[in-house]
Amino acid sequence: MNNKLKVYKEFVEKELIPLEQLLINHQYDELYSKLEEKREQVKKLNLWAPYLPKKFGGQDMKFLEFVSISEILGRSLLGHYTFNCQAPDIGNIELISRFGNEKQKKEFLEPLMAGKIRSCVGMVEPDRPGSNPSWLETKAVKNNGDYIINGRKWFTSSADGATFCILMAVTNPEAKNKYQRASMIIVPLNTPGVELKRNISIMGEKGAGFYSHAEIQYTDVRVSIQNIIQNEGDGFRLAQERLGPGRIHHCMRWIGICERAFDLMCQRAVNRKITPNETLSNMPIVKTWIAESRVEIDAARLLVMECARKIDTEGVSSSRAQISMIKFYTANILEKVLDRAIQTYGAMGITDDTPLAMWYRHERGARIYDGPDEVHKLAAARHILKAYEPKD
Ligand SMILES: Cc1cc2nc3c(=O)[nH]c(=O)nc-3n(C[C@H](O)[C@H](O)[C@H](O)COP(=O)(O)OP(=O)(O)OC[C@H]3O[C@@H](n4cnc5c(N)ncnc54)[C@H](O)[C@@H]3O)c2cc1C
Repeated sequence: MNNKLKVYKEFVEKELIPLEQLLINHQYDELYSKLEEKREQVKKLNLWAPYLPKKFGGQDMKFLEFVSISEILGRSLLGHYTFNCQAPDIGNIELISRFGNEKQKKEFLEPLMAGKIRSCVGMVEPDRPGSNPSWLETKAVKNNGDYIINGRKWFTSSADGATFCILMAVTNPEAKNKYQRASMIIVPLNTPGVELKRNISIMGEKGAGFYSHAEIQYTDVRVSIQNIIQNEGDGFRLAQERLGPGRIHHCMRWIGICERAFDLMCQRAVNRKITPNETLSNMPIVKTWIAESRVEIDAARLLVMECARKIDTEGVSSSRAQISMIKFYTANILEKVLDRAIQTYGAMGITDDTPLAMWYRHERGARIYDGPDEVHKLAAARHILKAYEPKD
């Protein structure tokens, strides 16, 4: 591990892991005020938002370098948020910096990069399949230099307390190509007609602030047409641009979770006595779990690094098969490793005395968000088979 990675790791272990119990116990007010202090500390140490350009306070890191940092931050429930590289903000920062207009950059991007505000993304709707983003109900209709937006979104992560949402809405219902009907529009969440109906309870937890997923009603919401990102009908293309690197960020975070769960599993195995003279680590089944987990985590990391290298050198669109493969592969390894770690702890594994149970509850979604396993398997196979199509 190089020195830079060591500095990040030390901060995560000394400053953040001790605060995790506040999140697990739902002590959100205390948690967020402590995290504000930690975020200021991170800025002073020049560790803020490693992927951002230096002029915006970041480290100017290449994608491949950043994925290693992302793994380290993933070791704590609080890592990415504290360093301002948490989804969905990181994806929104990338999107607006690459495709936003000057006004959008000034008004939304700059405070987001500085960590003064948070944001969210509203694509998926309760009454439409998220797996088919070309079929949306939410509409944005032009009216006197504004869009008037009507619709309902759910699973808008981190909307509670966010300043704006990048909303996907149909602007061109008549377009022949179904992938050119929707647009991405920046909607300030204090606009009249925006109503956060609820933070959705996930496996028994509603969360709050950054750690939450909202259902939001948009009724006659009026925003300027200047808030559209790029052009009408570009929504699907922009979503693809946003989700490619976003999936790698998730995968590296999941590998960080796997590593922490693996450490916890091994520590438990060598310390828990099952007879006066034997520990769990003497049991062949536990050894097997440890060996299998080690290999699977390492394999997942290599696949993710290779995918990051390919994105760095060949771009997102040439890397679609790799992105789909790492998405479903790593999400499944995460689930397996967490499950084995919990099993090693016995009853304690399902308590909130370790972070394992919280991850187990919240990361079941990893096999669903940013595209379910099944969709990614079909997409990967489609890309792979292209090379085998008969040529005439
Ligand atoms: C924790 C979490 C956070 C999220 N955050 C956000 C967010 O911030 N913003 C946002 O817009 N959305 C968010 N989502 C929504 C997420 O993107 C969708 O849940 C996902 O795209 C799947 O859509 P769906 O839930 O409507 O399932 P559906 O599309 O109804 O699919 C249900 C199941 O059917 C199967 N299936 C569907 N289509 C196919 C197919 N073509 N081939 C094979 N099988 C298929 C899959 O098994 C799938 O799991 C989040 C979801 C979760 C769980």
